[in-house]
Amino acid sequence: MTEQARCCRELTGSSKGASPFDRAIVLGWYDGPTEGLVRCGTCNRVDRFVMLDSVDEDREVRIFSMAPLPADSMDRLEEVLAPFLTPTWPMWVPLWRFPSEADRIRADRAVDALMVRGEAPEFVLTTSGLLDEISDVKVVSGNEAGQVHDWVSWMGLVRSSSENA
Ligand SMILES: [Zn+2]
Repeated sequence: MTEQARCCRELTGSSKGASPFDRAIVLGWYDGPTEGLVRCGTCNRVDRFVMLDSVDEDREVRIFSMAPLPADSMDRLEEVLAPFLTPTWPMWVPLWRFPSEADRIRADRAVDALMVRGEAPEFVLTTSGLLDEISDVKVVSGNEAGQVHDWVSWMGLVRSSSENA
């Protein structure tokens, strides 16, 4: 199956389809990515993704907020980690191991410094594979994002029956 590469800007106007993201640096992992950076393969926009919730243990649908970061964020993070860790694209999950505690602290601080440059989330998406396919997308305002308590129902999804037990 080949689909035309599209841009993250087209996400909100279309439904299910191929992911526009071509690279990810994963900074949090729990049975899959929970937090990190993705890059749009078309316009090179970089977003910070944070997992808000997940549904369906079998298909593993994850709900992520997407918040824009300065476009150089992914390159800068790679530069910080490059002396210690080798990137594995398209999805790089750096093992947070460093030769010394000082190096680890420096890396942590560099990540924090990159993240504070981020803006409020602009949209929320559901996917079982961030780089593969996007199932659904909804625009969210920064205001609204702070007030939603149940992202599963906000996205119009229902939890699988096994999770209700
Ligand atoms: Zn894009």
